[in-house]
Amino acid sequence: MVPQSIPQSIQPQPCTDPDCRGQHVPAERVALAMSLCSERGVRLTELRRQILELLWESGRPTGAYELIEALRLRDSRSVGPPTVYRALEFLMSQGLVSKIESRNAYVPCAHPERRHDCLFFICSDCGASAELEDLRVEQLLAEDAAVLGYRVTRRVVEVDGTCASCIAAGTT
Ligand SMILES: [Zn+2]
Ligand SMILES: [Zn+2]
Ligand SMILES: [Zn+2]
Repeated sequence: MVPQSIPQSIQPQPCTDPDCRGQHVPAERVALAMSLCSERGVRLTELRRQILELLWESGRPTGAYELIEALRLRDSRSVGPPTVYRALEFLMSQGLVSKIESRNAYVPCAHPERRHDCLFFICSDCGASAELEDLRVEQLLAEDAAVLGYRVTRRVVEVDGTCASCIAAGTT
């Protein structure tokens, strides 16, 4: 529960974008990525799109080897690690995917169409991840970077813990 003392306008939201109604339907997110790539004049190849789809369907940080296995199961496609890593690099360069360093795994970004800091909460119990945008965190990081005279290239915040449903299920 968000403390009532925080004004409504700056409460962290699962999603601050009115366009998606707070719903991140995998097919819609993949379609958005496709139109973004064509606007930018970059190619979302079949493999890149499939990997993005798998990441959206997974709902939790997914590693490269899990992706390779999923591609094999889906359409008996045999893809080597370097190919998958190259596809992931492309997806990250376009802001479509973030790497969760603590898991050595990947998650899709809900709103690659605009710049924002991705803030991920990851459940150590069930592995689910939730992306949040919090302008307060972005503001603080920008201020800290300015104080240090630091030029930031990557801003992904990872928070580990136990999600509400795992706590409710009493599994931990
Ligand atoms: Zn959204
Ligand atoms: Zn994001
Ligand atoms: Zn959980």
